[in-house]
Amino acid sequence: MTDPDDSPTDDDFSTADSDPDETPTVTCQRCDQTWDLAREFDQLGAGNHAVEQFALDHKRHTGHFPDEIRTWRAACRNCPEEAERLASDAVTRWAETHARHTRHEVEIRHARSDETTLVTAD
Ligand SMILES: [Zn+2]
Ligand SMILES: [Zn+2]
Repeated sequence: MTDPDDSPTDDDFSTADSDPDETPTVTCQRCDQTWDLAREFDQLGAGNHAVEQFALDHKRHTGHFPDEIRTWRAACRNCPEEAERLASDAVTRWAETHARHTRHEVEIRHARSDETTLVTAD
């Protein structure tokens, strides 16, 4: 009735998900480089911390973030102040603080979508 050779398998999808041996890499087109974060993972543990720390270091030393690092940006509508952060709560805190002190309106541009959020004082 059913032909096993003909039926699609989803083995490929079920195993690719959580491979503990997979070494994360970060690439940057501007630097034309790829970095292996195995050492950072050993030091900081798995999860986003290693990538986040690497991205922040890269930004600090080169002035830009690596590829595939999606940042949250806050830009003031009233003055040239702006901030770029990896975490939404960090950028929101910056925007709220700026708005509170200056009474300016700050627009937050989301990392993974085209959505924006407006932060105002009060
Ligand atoms: Zn770079
Ligand atoms: Zn401002």
